[in-house]
Amino acid sequence: MNILIIGPPGVGKGTQAKLIKDTLGLIHLSTGELLRKEIKTKSKVGIISKRFIDKGEFIPDDIMLEIINNTITRHNCLKGYLFDGFPRTLPQAEGLDMILNKYNCNINAAINLTASIEELKIRLLKRSNQGNRSDDLPSIIDKRQKIYWIQTAPILKYYKAKNLLKEVDGLGSIKHVNKRILNIFNSND
Ligand code: AMP
Repeated sequence: MNILIIGPPGVGKGTQAKLIKDTLGLIHLSTGELLRKEIKTKSKVGIISKRFIDKGEFIPDDIMLEIINNTITRHNCLKGYLFDGFPRTLPQAEGLDMILNKYNCNINAAINLTASIEELKIRLLKRSNQGNRSDDLPSIIDKRQKIYWIQTAPILKYYKAKNLLKEVDGLGSIKHVNKRILNIFNSND
């Protein structure tokens, strides 16, 4: 089983991914975390990525697809990935399908976590006060939300057309949202 977790910045993708990966026996692949590690080690990809991340912009699709292509292995694809923060654009979604096809794998569900823009801003401002991330600056929060709606939201249609989209309300406690997500996989439909 390969699953995606999609949603705007601050909706709780990373938090929920960490909670469900073990329950569902999946390998958590967060492109944001992967890029932040590259930045820390000052690798070539890290140096390029930092320029985009600090401005709240996306890393170009060809770079992201190369990273994903180099990261995904046949063995782990058969075991199952939980993709968190990838794909973020339509070309990435199409590219991911092609990469998975190479290994006879496919996406089984795309979870769309939702929350109101007001709630997202409150959460991101809180995260910004913790000072862990260079892209959580108040000046960049609005830009990241806008970019999500322009560049990422179109992938929702892509997965809906494939009958893979699962809408989950991301409001409420972490525990409640977690239960809502797991319910998708416990139901028989
Ligand atoms: P995240 O931790 O998922 O919020 O990602 C942090 C930042 O990393 C994003 O705002 C982008 O700048 C970059 N990033 C992560 N995943 C992708 C992706 N799939 N495509 C382009 N940029 C990405």
